[in-house]
Amino acid sequence: MNHVRHETSAPIDAVLIGAGFSGLYMLHRLRGLGLTTRVFDAADGVGGTWYWNRYPGARCDSESHYYCYSFSEEIRKDWQWSCRYPAQPEILAYLNFVADRLDLRRDIEFGTRVIAGTYDEEHALWNVETDRGETVRARFLITGVGCTSAAATSTPAIPGIENFSGATYHTASWPHETVDFAGKRVGLIGTGSSGIQCTPRLAEEAAHLTVFQRTPNYSVPARNHLLTDAMRRELDDDFDTLRRKTLNSPIGMPFDVPQVSALEASPEERKRKYDALWETGGFRFMFESYSDLVLDIKANETAAEYVRTKIREKVSDPAVAAILCPFDHPIGTKRPPIDTAYYETFNRDNVTLVDIKTNPIREATADGLTLQHGEHHKLDAIVFATGFDAVTGALIKLNLRGRGGLPLGEKWSAGPRAYLGLCTAGFPNLFMITGPGSPSILANFPVCIEQHVDWIADCISRMRAESRVEIEPLVEAEDAWARMIAEDANKTLLPLANSWYMGANIPGKPRVFLAYPNGIHAYAELCAGVAERGYEGFELRSHKVLEAAD
Ligand code: NAP
Repeated sequence: MNHVRHETSAPIDAVLIGAGFSGLYMLHRLRGLGLTTRVFDAADGVGGTWYWNRYPGARCDSESHYYCYSFSEEIRKDWQWSCRYPAQPEILAYLNFVADRLDLRRDIEFGTRVIAGTYDEEHALWNVETDRGETVRARFLITGVGCTSAAATSTPAIPGIENFSGATYHTASWPHETVDFAGKRVGLIGTGSSGIQCTPRLAEEAAHLTVFQRTPNYSVPARNHLLTDAMRRELDDDFDTLRRKTLNSPIGMPFDVPQVSALEASPEERKRKYDALWETGGFRFMFESYSDLVLDIKANETAAEYVRTKIREKVSDPAVAAILCPFDHPIGTKRPPIDTAYYETFNRDNVTLVDIKTNPIREATADGLTLQHGEHHKLDAIVFATGFDAVTGALIKLNLRGRGGLPLGEKWSAGPRAYLGLCTAGFPNLFMITGPGSPSILANFPVCIEQHVDWIADCISRMRAESRVEIEPLVEAEDAWARMIAEDANKTLLPLANSWYMGANIPGKPRVFLAYPNGIHAYAELCAGVAERGYEGFELRSHKVLEAAD
């Protein structure tokens, strides 16, 4: 890393952190407003999460025709997705295409990590420090750092892991070079979406794959397929209808929102519906079946038991199937994984499933992992698919200090507080795209990102028109937002799982529900109302300060 110390230069309008889905569109909007903006990203290219998560099998779980930008007709028409669920390289190629098409790269500094940011109250400016030794002063600081970008830990705290002589990998920061598992004994720890996606691929490549499972998950087949020209034409012809459905949907996907309770249907009707949606594949099983799957435990159990039955049908060894059957949380209370031949992989001769809930890992040795009951598994490589310090981790890592030098991590020590999930009191002019308390993690990211970015851009535009230099949420407004989230989340089954939605996957992280739970459609309306009422819940200030970028 180049640690040249630069002179602190004249203030600019905005510093934007991250060049993924959020950062690219935000930069485009800020440019449209005529703002001078510098974008920093630690990676050597655009893509954000899709730059780093390049493990075998990494693929989008949302369908390509709505997991993309909608703001530009030109971009939409000039890009062709190859299949229903694009793989990581194709999504990365798409984001590169967007960056080129909008000529975004000239404002992005790659290989540059923001290591701190301090708010200068006197001048209403952020002082942003990079690992290249530069301090940049800017009126606005906007983060597009993603929700699942900071790995929980590079390796979980397994005693003796430093003694393991084989290679170790984390799905969230996979090497760019091809990793060759041929002839190797590979261990995989973690069976969330990432682990479930890479299991079949590792099983195909390795001599032997051992999956160490702590908590079984409910996975539904993705049923990926190539898109034909006729399919693409049909999606294109239907674009307006699909977009309307997307914007009316709580999860930002063009699904038919179900109106009927699972408990109103007869067992035969339910089976017919679940069978049909199981064949359709993907998130539709959860989100197009019944209205109360995440509201009523009995309704939920009908879907949960259906999935368990499917697991028992697919996995030939009943003892293995029993270990794979989820039991400790309702279906949909953890982010639902979808898969391609995940359960079938456990029928392969070269795959072993190890239940580390009943027999945890005791220690790592030079040649593998030893379990509590003494069983030893010899391994040449270990893949950690052990998740993220989601939503808040990447933000806290930025070392931001607000009014009075208060660190963001300290302010959020009992859990994050962010009005609309976008702004936090004591940190004026900081906007967090997909921040904690926004609906993003429960919905389709590009739809949420476009809504957040448009709202932020409109807010900045209005501030400039009215010669305002500072915006900051009121403490009462963010407290009320946090209370509403907790109360509304408690009306659902979501808090019942030890999920990353609750911060429960990170030891010591406050157990707080991290998302607005009533859907992106309702959230977008709330945000629009706040703006219409003159940024209700915020304080906007015009005071004597240096004019940015002059
Ligand atoms: P995750 O859902 O948090 O799963 C982590 C897994 O690692 C869990 O099975 C967890 O077990 C296990 N684990 C964690 N620490 C462990 C330890 N010390 N010992 C043993 N097991 C341990 O993480 P993820 O699979 O990376 O997915 C996170 C999110 O990223 C997803 O929910 C999704 O939103 C996003 N994602 C999206 C896609 C996509 O769209 N294509 C793909 C991958 C991921 P416990 O359950 O017992 O804690």
